[in-house]
Amino acid sequence: MIYADCAATTKLDKTAFEAMQPYFFSEYGNASQPYSFSRKPKKALAEARASIAECINAQPEEIFFTSGGTESDNWAIKGTMSYGDTRATITSQIEHHAILNSCSTLERLGSPVAYLSPNEKGLISPKTLEQSITNQTKLVSIMLANNEIGTIQPVCELSKISHAHGALFHTDAVQAVGHIPVDVQSLGVDMLSASGHKFNAPKGIGFLYIKKGTILSPYASGGLQEFGMRAGTENIASIVGMAVALHSNCMEIEKHIQHIQSLEQQLLQSLISADIPFLRNGVSHLPGNLSLSFKGQDGEALLHRLDLMGICVSTGSACDTQNTQISHVLTAINLPENYAKGTIRISFGKENTVEDVSFIASALVKIMHK
Ligand code: PLP
Repeated sequence: MIYADCAATTKLDKTAFEAMQPYFFSEYGNASQPYSFSRKPKKALAEARASIAECINAQPEEIFFTSGGTESDNWAIKGTMSYGDTRATITSQIEHHAILNSCSTLERLGSPVAYLSPNEKGLISPKTLEQSITNQTKLVSIMLANNEIGTIQPVCELSKISHAHGALFHTDAVQAVGHIPVDVQSLGVDMLSASGHKFNAPKGIGFLYIKKGTILSPYASGGLQEFGMRAGTENIASIVGMAVALHSNCMEIEKHIQHIQSLEQQLLQSLISADIPFLRNGVSHLPGNLSLSFKGQDGEALLHRLDLMGICVSTGSACDTQNTQISHVLTAINLPENYAKGTIRISFGKENTVEDVSFIASALVKIMHK
């Protein structure tokens, strides 16, 4: 089997798995208890928080553990709006549904939301934000890298504009953290969402960076875990695994980027050499994320034919497999229907090889020539 759907999820890092094991069997104490048996899990929790903070240039007390990207996004959007607040939120049409559906909740509660249109490459231009933002805007949420087409947004400029109008800025960095350098200070964000399983950590764990001083409602009420902001006994094993996986990815990030970008070029060149006409969607791409549209083809059928040949790719966002319509992202970038219907997303990770790419390229050529 060749796995080329790393934007959907990734394999657990082996060193992360090894680091997690003691917290299931020998060091399973509850980190909130005062006795000495809980000392190690408590220390592991603090060390994981510090390590993750260092990877994104934050302070440890600015990292709040969550169950993943969806929870982090829900928290950032809904936690910013207090009950009865009618100030506006601005987001984009191409966000993940964790953002879009959280924004729908705000609208149902009477708080207005504006959805910015991207250009045909999936970029949200600073000018578009300037035209929409007012001093009544409370929150702007624009993703760092798009999960379907890989476009990296100019978050640094967008956050500056937001702050100039007194609004908070959140970014969904689920696809970016662990894959490209992410520095919360230079991005200038107030909140940032991340998800462990996208960077070789376990599923069901993630974090929300909340800049010191940002006013946000707690996500869950109960005990005093996560500085009283997200109650519930901590998932120490997964938190430790996430810290190890992120650290390991960040230590070799440039090497991984180079490797993955060379695989991308190999695939694109193979398709071009075989005279297969296609469009690559997006611009300023996240390494490894290739959204390819083949005119007149059916993306769903392509996915299944590749599956029969032992290759895993996706048609769009992993969360949309129930929905066979053209995705909201491809619709927002105005991709013509005859291309949009023939779109697949191939997403490479650090473990993919030159041989994987040759196999995928020849499978695609075979299918197209039929
Ligand atoms: N945001 C983006 C951009 C994503 O790609 C995903 C997952 O595909 C999520 C949020 C949701 O993350 P999780 O699966 O950790 O809930």
